[in-house]
Amino acid sequence: MSSSRRNALDEVLHREAQHTTQNERRVSVYFGENTFHIDKMRECLTEEAYLVVKSAIETGSHVDRIHADQIATAMKDWAISKGATHYTHWFQPLTGSTAEKHDAFFKPVGPGKAIERFEGDLLVQQEPDASSFPNGGIRNTFEARGYTAWDPSSPAFVIGKTLCIPTIFIAYTGEALDYKMPLIKALANVESIATDICQYFDKNVTNVKATLGWEQEYFLIDTALFNARPDLMMTGRAVFGHAPAKGQQLDDHYFGSIPERVTEYMREFEYEALCLGIPVTTRHNEVAPNQFECAPMFEEVNIANDHNLLLMDLMEKIAVKHNFRVLLHEKPFAGINGSGKHNNWSLGTNNGINLLQPGKNPKSNLRFLTFFVNTIKAIYDNADLLRAAIASAGNDHRLGANEAPPAIISVFIGSQLTKMLNDLEESITAGKMTPEAKTELKLNIGKIPQILLDNTDRNRTSPFAFTGNKFEFRAVGSTANCAQAMTILNTIVASQLRKFKVEVDAKIAKGEKKDEAILKELQKLIAESKTIRFEGNGYGEEWRVEAERRGLSNLVDTPRALDVFARKEVEELFSEMGVLSPVELEARHEIELENYILKIQIEARIMGDLAKNHIIPASIAYQNILIQNAQGLVDLLGEKEGKESAKSQLELIKAISKHVNAMNEKVDLMIEERKKANKLESARDMAYAYCDNVKAMFDGIKYHGDKLEIMVDDELWPLPKLRELLFTK
Ligand code: ADP
Ligand code: MG
Repeated sequence: MSSSRRNALDEVLHREAQHTTQNERRVSVYFGENTFHIDKMRECLTEEAYLVVKSAIETGSHVDRIHADQIATAMKDWAISKGATHYTHWFQPLTGSTAEKHDAFFKPVGPGKAIERFEGDLLVQQEPDASSFPNGGIRNTFEARGYTAWDPSSPAFVIGKTLCIPTIFIAYTGEALDYKMPLIKALANVESIATDICQYFDKNVTNVKATLGWEQEYFLIDTALFNARPDLMMTGRAVFGHAPAKGQQLDDHYFGSIPERVTEYMREFEYEALCLGIPVTTRHNEVAPNQFECAPMFEEVNIANDHNLLLMDLMEKIAVKHNFRVLLHEKPFAGINGSGKHNNWSLGTNNGINLLQPGKNPKSNLRFLTFFVNTIKAIYDNADLLRAAIASAGNDHRLGANEAPPAIISVFIGSQLTKMLNDLEESITAGKMTPEAKTELKLNIGKIPQILLDNTDRNRTSPFAFTGNKFEFRAVGSTANCAQAMTILNTIVASQLRKFKVEVDAKIAKGEKKDEAILKELQKLIAESKTIRFEGNGYGEEWRVEAERRGLSNLVDTPRALDVFARKEVEELFSEMGVLSPVELEARHEIELENYILKIQIEARIMGDLAKNHIIPASIAYQNILIQNAQGLVDLLGEKEGKESAKSQLELIKAISKHVNAMNEKVDLMIEERKKANKLESARDMAYAYCDNVKAMFDGIKYHGDKLEIMVDDELWPLPKLRELLFTK
């Protein structure tokens, strides 16, 4: 073969090799390749160091300095082999996003000389300059010291050229300044009490893990159009915009084919996600135009949550490459479905049992019922706290907005299980159970698996629904850090399970049989928590009325929902469970209020800006054209005939004035209200003022803006319309 031909062939082969891209490699080959996961550690570490880190992952045990050094070195070498030049502690401050501060591995050690260095102490603990993260008054900026500490249970990963190490973020005085630390504590509680309760049924259970499978909804908007909408850029939400002629009535987007450009985008972020060990499996269109969903296989809660945050980050970064912008906001467009992040939750044992999965015999079904009924009771007792867990300015636009769960917390379990619980409740007997009653109960309990097989009712309107082998908390917002919802859900379930165990043990101590003791306690819980169960349409007005009759809360907005954090019993619950101290809880309340105020403040400002600097000038410009035209007709045809010919123009001129004037007045009033609100001292008062006096004016202002949008010449309209934003492929 001539050398020139060989060169040509080499070139082709080389090109082909380069083309062995994401699509041609098998997922099994690249899944998790950018993470320093446990198997990788086994390869890279001495047996001893491996066992130390394994135990830290599984039981939260301490990693001593010597082994930390070994792990750090192995981690660094692995990261450098992946092209990393920097490392960062990756943490979840209460701003809602993730934070990182990058440091280089290399260290100069003389003229022209450097070494790559990363030791145990840098892995285990760092002190970022954290003064600008929200702390709710825990640290004042004079002693702005907080530190990040390694969370070995979540694998380190490389993104781009940076090694990221998942960490918790705490004040020097020990208080949590992030979402991860309370979550880890809440999980430890629920996992330990669930393990204890499993002993009633199965001595082989030594470990229980709470599991989370989230479903992330989002919108994709073309970058150029996004950039022409200051409101989307500043708030992630269109504060103005007339509903398009075609919305989602036809339901033709849902599960329809995904446009090619979107598929390419999805493929790329999924590839990157899979390399990071995020098990994304599902993608589909959502109900609204240009709305999509991505869901992974469920994982242990802490890891699933890290993965969700990572994925949101990837989605935003990779979208830019495809000339898209991702909107994660809960309600980017009025009148069009909003976005949520369903949190599917369950408990799984070390021997592979899903504790919310009905079993094959009465015994395993009693176990199922135990966890099922206790969860319902936990929701009943703590519905307001669960509502507070999902409160945010964005979610306020979505909850109760007729296609999202209402702000009223209730539990859906399906008609079959409802009947089952009702039957169980009715068979309550005082004193000892008769043999017949026992047999009947056993029969009833034994029926659960068949029941679930033909359980076809899937209620989509419930905020908290049982879906066959897990609960689905649907009211979580699409921008949320799931840790907030998961910390609270796992804390209330843990607290309830503890109470349950105390009661059952007391009954057993008095000589009752274990199964009977459990059943009786369950019957009590079923009866007590009955009113939280609701099988009907959660979107309807009748439910609001019915819920009120039942005495269920309807905390309609964020400031009111956040008040729950100030309740004495909530403070006691978090203290008792060791999840949040009173100081930490108060700080969180404060930070959430501040986040809320800032969000509404920015929305109000952008609304004023768009009204005064975009919409009103465009409307007046069009009105001037109409005036010229009408005047021209009068000049040409004389007063009477001219005016008659310009009839529509004259009407439009007046209508434009009416809306311009009304909008301008309302904007001025809103600015006044904002000024008043800003003068208030306490964050709570300010949040209430922003909610009741500032945000309350948004709809009125939007109404006039949207009217003007359909009057003014399309050519003159300064903002891309919803039709363009939502239907551009
Ligand atoms: P849907 O109809 O809501 O899409 P799926 O059955 O597809 O329901 O599951 C939705 C989510 O539930 C997925 O993310 C999945 O991983 C998660 N899931 C399934 N089983 C569990 C479990 N045991 N614990 C937590 N999440 C789970
Ligand atoms: Mg779902």
